[in-house]
Amino acid sequence: MKSYEKLLQNNKQWAESKLKDDPGYFDSLAHLQTPEFLWIGCSDSRVPANEITGTQPGEIFVHRNVANLVINNDVNLLSVLDYAVTHLKVKHVIVCGHYGCGGIKAAITNHDFKAVLNMWLRSIKDVYRIHRNELDSIKDDREKENRLVELNVQEQIFNLAKTSIIQRAWKNESRPHLHGWVYGLKDGIINPVCEMKAGTHIDALYEYDDL
Ligand SMILES: [Zn+2]
Repeated sequence: MKSYEKLLQNNKQWAESKLKDDPGYFDSLAHLQTPEFLWIGCSDSRVPANEITGTQPGEIFVHRNVANLVINNDVNLLSVLDYAVTHLKVKHVIVCGHYGCGGIKAAITNHDFKAVLNMWLRSIKDVYRIHRNELDSIKDDREKENRLVELNVQEQIFNLAKTSIIQRAWKNESRPHLHGWVYGLKDGIINPVCEMKAGTHIDALYEYDDL
C-alpha cells in the first residue's frame, strides 16, 4: 500500500468509528459551524490544533503558516481573520507558536533561504530587532531562541490588534479577546505568554477613530 493510500484507509475507519458512536455526527456538523475560537498556529506537523487542545471538529477555526505570523498584507490570513471575527463571531483569537520552531531558528541565522522564504522570515528578524536589547543579553542559544518564539507570538498579537477587523469588533461587540500561547514539543504543554482583552488601547498611532 502506498503511504497516501494509508491515509484514505484511516479516514474510512475514522468515519465509521464516529458513526458508531453517534449516527447523527456528520449530519449535525454539516449543518452548523459555530466555533468559539480562531487558532493561528505554525504549519509544523507536530502542532495540530485540535489534538493538543482536546477539541473536536467544529470547535476551532484554523489558520496555519510558517512561524504563525500575522502579516498586514497577507490576504490569506486576513480573509480567515475577517471571516472568523466578522461572520463566525469568534470570542477568542489564539496565536500559538511553539518552542523549537524551524522558522524562528532559520530567522536567527544569516543563511540565504532564497527569495520567498527570505521574504517571510524577514518579519521574524524584525521582531528580533525590536527586542534586540533583551535577546542579545541572553547568552544561551536555546534560551534565546525560546524567548524569540515567545516575543514573536507577542508581536503577532499586537499585529492583530492593529487591524481594523479586530478594532471594529472590539468597538461594536467587545470581542474577541486575543491570546498568545507557546506549545512545548517536549512536554506537550501550552504556555500562555500574553493576553490582550477586547478594547485594549495600543499605540494611538494604530487606533482608527472613525470605524
Ligand atoms: Zn514552527
